[in-house]
Amino acid sequence: MEVPLAKTDIIVLGAGIVGTSIAVHLLGRGLSVALLDRRGAGEGTSYGNAGIIEGNTVFPPAFPSSFAELARIALKRSPVVNYHATDLLRFAPWLAAFRAASRPERLIETAEAMRPLFARAVAEHEVLAAEAAAERYLSRRGWLKLYSTDAAYAALASEFEAAHRFGIANVPLDQEGARALEPSLNPVFRHAVHWTGAVSVSNPLALTRAYAARFATIGGLVFTGNAQTLHRANSSWRVETASGPLDADTVVIALGPWASDFLKRFGIKLPFAVKRGYHLHYRPAGNAVLSRPVLDAENGYVLAPMEQGIRVTTGVEFAARDAAPTPVQLTRILPAARSLFPLGAAVEAQAWLGARPSFPDSRPVISRAPGYSGLWLAIGHAHWGLTLGPATGRLMAEMITGAIPFCDPTPYAADRFGR
Ligand SMILES: Cc1cc2nc3c(=O)[nH]c(=O)nc-3n(C[C@H](O)[C@H](O)[C@H](O)COP(=O)(O)OP(=O)(O)OC[C@H]3O[C@@H](n4cnc5c(N)ncnc54)[C@H](O)[C@@H]3O)c2cc1C
Repeated sequence: MEVPLAKTDIIVLGAGIVGTSIAVHLLGRGLSVALLDRRGAGEGTSYGNAGIIEGNTVFPPAFPSSFAELARIALKRSPVVNYHATDLLRFAPWLAAFRAASRPERLIETAEAMRPLFARAVAEHEVLAAEAAAERYLSRRGWLKLYSTDAAYAALASEFEAAHRFGIANVPLDQEGARALEPSLNPVFRHAVHWTGAVSVSNPLALTRAYAARFATIGGLVFTGNAQTLHRANSSWRVETASGPLDADTVVIALGPWASDFLKRFGIKLPFAVKRGYHLHYRPAGNAVLSRPVLDAENGYVLAPMEQGIRVTTGVEFAARDAAPTPVQLTRILPAARSLFPLGAAVEAQAWLGARPSFPDSRPVISRAPGYSGLWLAIGHAHWGLTLGPATGRLMAEMITGAIPFCDPTPYAADRFGR
């Protein structure tokens, strides 16, 4: 019999923002915790996002309701959504469920189910960032959403109503008001909303790394290894690390878009898919300055000021996680992005590709893994993994240790999809 290298109370598989935050929270509750990844902390999806800690989120993105928009997507003319025709059949059940979850009453249900997590998002980051001496990456200037048409702006009525009910601060602005905040924006839009409570991150990779470094400093164990080696050994769970086998009675799966490999191997059926997205950095032209992230709502891209330059992130691409990159959306949005803000030369030769791990109801799964004792899932944070990592970390640690959770975890249970 192989002798285990070590036994910890808990192994967290995946050192993205979600897994790292969970590991920090568990360690803080007095457990021995190992954090395992095949790469460095934060180098997966958590590397390339738009860096917005969006505590202000009300409604998730919805399935297009207008025929014109659907036709634009189908004809591959939409800057917001792209797809690989070869993978569409595989996405069909997920897209049907996503469409059902986009009915107005379901969107309200989702907004209410997600509110407790979003409401804690900024505060939980602030705690971890202070402990990790990483506050320099956080900027408290909110973010701006821009609208070019009166119709797009008018469609926000239900979001404003819900935001008011939830107490989420926002300031509707005209073009002049928005340009007073961001003078380098060109006057190519009509309306703006300043979501003042959002916090932006100037380097999401550095932030996750700082949380992981803090975890190691206070006694957390960091391992390199392949999470797919997870198996039962005696009465424990065992994973093979670069330093040998490691055992624990409890394992948390926080593998981001790669969670599907785990779900498949363990026969856990959940409607999990990825929404791919790209980014590329550009130097600002001349003296142009951007001090907070800006969303061009109709074109679905974000301009986010980062240490590396202005990060231009795209909307959604439905394609297999590992299919070759097809960054056509960057080409589609670039004329609009350049007319909105003076972008100079690209910093990199190639776009970064990531995959948002997503469930069709736009809620993560933060719960026990169905059918396995000692296994927990923290997956499917979609567009909000950076936002919700630390709040998820707290909730997961409270659930695992049997403390009273800060919010009701029922909406995030894996069994909401049936057994
Ligand atoms: C273009 C884009 C823009 C976005 N913008 C925002 C935003 O502004 N705000 C926001 O909140 N969210 C945003 N997101 C979403 C956010 O980035 C993700 O939800 C989040 O990063 C998911 O974090 P995670 O920890 O679950 O996954 P990951 O960061 O992918 O972490 C999973 C980890 O598991 C590891 N792993 C995988 N397989 C194995 C294995 N077999 N063995 C060992 N290790 C393994 C990986 O190496 C990785 O480190 C954006 C996403 C994209 C693509």
